Amino acid sequence: MQKIIMIKYGELTTKKDNKGLFLTTLKRNVENSLKNLNVEVSYDSGRMFVNPLNDNYDEVLNKLEKVFGIHELNIVYKIENDYEILKKELVDILKEKDFKTFKVSTKRSNKNFEKTSMEVSKELGAVVLKNLDKKEVDVHTPDLTINVEIRMDNFIVYFNKIEGAGGYPVGTLGKGLLMLSGGIDSPVAGYLVSKRGVRLEAIYFESPPHTSLEAKNKVISLAKKLSEYNGNIKLHVINFTNIQESIYKNIPNDYLITIMRRMMYRIGEQIANYNKCKILVNGESIGQVASQTLTSISAINSVITMPVIRPVACFDKLEIIDIANKIDTYKTSILPFEDCCTIFVPTHPVINPDIEKCVEYEKLIDYEELIKDAIKEHEIINVNNNVNEFEDIL
Ligand code: ATP
Ligand code: MG
Repeated sequence: MQKIIMIKYGELTTKKDNKGLFLTTLKRNVENSLKNLNVEVSYDSGRMFVNPLNDNYDEVLNKLEKVFGIHELNIVYKIENDYEILKKELVDILKEKDFKTFKVSTKRSNKNFEKTSMEVSKELGAVVLKNLDKKEVDVHTPDLTINVEIRMDNFIVYFNKIEGAGGYPVGTLGKGLLMLSGGIDSPVAGYLVSKRGVRLEAIYFESPPHTSLEAKNKVISLAKKLSEYNGNIKLHVINFTNIQESIYKNIPNDYLITIMRRMMYRIGEQIANYNKCKILVNGESIGQVASQTLTSISAINSVITMPVIRPVACFDKLEIIDIANKIDTYKTSILPFEDCCTIFVPTHPVINPDIEKCVEYEKLIDYEELIKDAIKEHEIINVNNNVNEFEDIL
């Protein structure tokens, strides 16, 4: 008998054509997230198993709970393929457990097994009643549910189910470039898109000396948090100072933010293309600020052709904060360091910007040259989650 962790990955099985890619990616992500923890990962008949060789089940489970593509985790007993041994070992396992009422729930993937699931449940129930004192069957609200799986090569017994992170394994859906500010929304956007299987790189616009090193370190910390879900993240840091100062000097005040964001999108698209990212991802939320009205989003979006995914577009701020707390980015996000969007804030930003005006105003600055320089000199920081070096397969 072996006590190990079993991984279930429900949603994957519906993606038949991609099953091979999904499974190899999931296995690799599981191995990467557990790299320093001395485990053995194996795969047999539709289930993945992790054996924590140092018996550090909780530590391993904590890491696995952040791996997308996993829908359920169980600590299981794997018992050899002999019905009599199953009965004996089940009694041994149950002697250590504190319960009064129980039920047995059996699933049979080995259709050649000589008994039906119902028969096995009944027989094992009788074994428990006979060998252990003062136990009762309760099929509705038992203290303990004894789950038994009859498989081709072994039996599995387990009691508790731990909910997995869900979604698809990171890397199976290609790569995206996350516009990561120090705020609350963009890390949440990054988490949500990771859940859909998207590998992330990130881009951060800084404006030294108007923005500080602390503001940049905050973004690095947020990227690090995200890397617990996404694997190592390549963070592109763009020095935005010249572009921002030029906008500030030459563009009418109410259009500052709109033009600035058009520049961010242009740079984002180029960095994304260069790094084989298929989408941009950001934390825009409809109506949250002047630059996020539908007219604003459309005026800003019109400078690029790459799709922009906005995972929090339809969430209320409080809903976004709930997720930020869940993924532990909120505390970092609310640290009071300035962002480049907040330093040159116009008194009355335009709510319904006119695209033709944007184009006219942009003629006042030599933005193509400025963008070229900013991209040429940009800094790359490899943010790792202290666990692994992530290699791309896509
Ligand atoms: P957040 O809370 O994520 O900062 P926000 O409500 O402050 O969002 P904006 O400042 O309008 O909204 O920014 C909208 C989105 O644009 C951000 O969620 C982020 O994806 C991107 N963004 C803003 N500033 C930066 C920056 N300095 N670097 C990278 N991306 C940025
Ligand atoms: Mg912001």
